[in-house]
Amino acid sequence: MNFSKIRTFIAILCTACCICVTTSCSGSDDNAPVSPTDDTSRFVTLSEAIPDAILEIRYYGTYNFVGARIDGYEQPVALLTREAAAALKAVSDDVISQGYRLKIYDAYRPQKAVDHFVRWAEDLNDTRMKPYFYADLDKGVLFEREYIMAKSGHTRGSTVDLTLFDMTSEKELDMGGTFDWFGPESHPDFCGDPESGTYTGDNSQSPAGRSITPEQFAHRMILRRAMLKHGFKPFDTEWWHFTLADEPFPDTYFTFPVRQIE
Ligand SMILES: [Zn+2]
Repeated sequence: MNFSKIRTFIAILCTACCICVTTSCSGSDDNAPVSPTDDTSRFVTLSEAIPDAILEIRYYGTYNFVGARIDGYEQPVALLTREAAAALKAVSDDVISQGYRLKIYDAYRPQKAVDHFVRWAEDLNDTRMKPYFYADLDKGVLFEREYIMAKSGHTRGSTVDLTLFDMTSEKELDMGGTFDWFGPESHPDFCGDPESGTYTGDNSQSPAGRSITPEQFAHRMILRRAMLKHGFKPFDTEWWHFTLADEPFPDTYFTFPVRQIE
């Protein structure tokens, strides 16, 4: 899908509702001019910038909500702008001192990948990963509930999806839900107040009566506190998604594929 088609698609859907997908609407105006570029000069490969980070690039593999490798992911690597990578290095050093490592699910995401998500969302018959990522929802509501959108903050290069790995237990920290779970259970304010870090147990938003424990909520807060402390801003529907508050390319949507930067 080219950009003019994407804009047409947005315009049509916005008459009914705003579109978003688990790709994040944060920080951008969908009506703003898009300036696509394939310039990689301000990007770094995360495994070089942060050797301590663990990578599990879900869109390179098939364990993701689509169930297939996503367009534009040519290697299982993570790319970020230099500025975002420097801030994330500070987060990594911070959490290592607490006994954790960062585990990265996704970082820079090319527009081609976002277009793949949109195509997938339009195919209501393809529900092969529903039990794992949107068990409580009909696929048809993913657009109107803004779980899928035609543009993503990730494409601007300063957004990252991640969790914490506990170096003592040698497992991911239990966050009470999986990356890319489409539902209110993924909201940072599910069962608690992320501003104060207070657990409330309020699970009234969960259609299936799901809940998370005080410990699971506290784990989400460890990640959130570290990210905010070092310059990232949270996203109100995904506990794992953060964008550098002072991102260097707020209006640029990059098009180069995910592969090691030489
Ligand atoms: Zn994200």
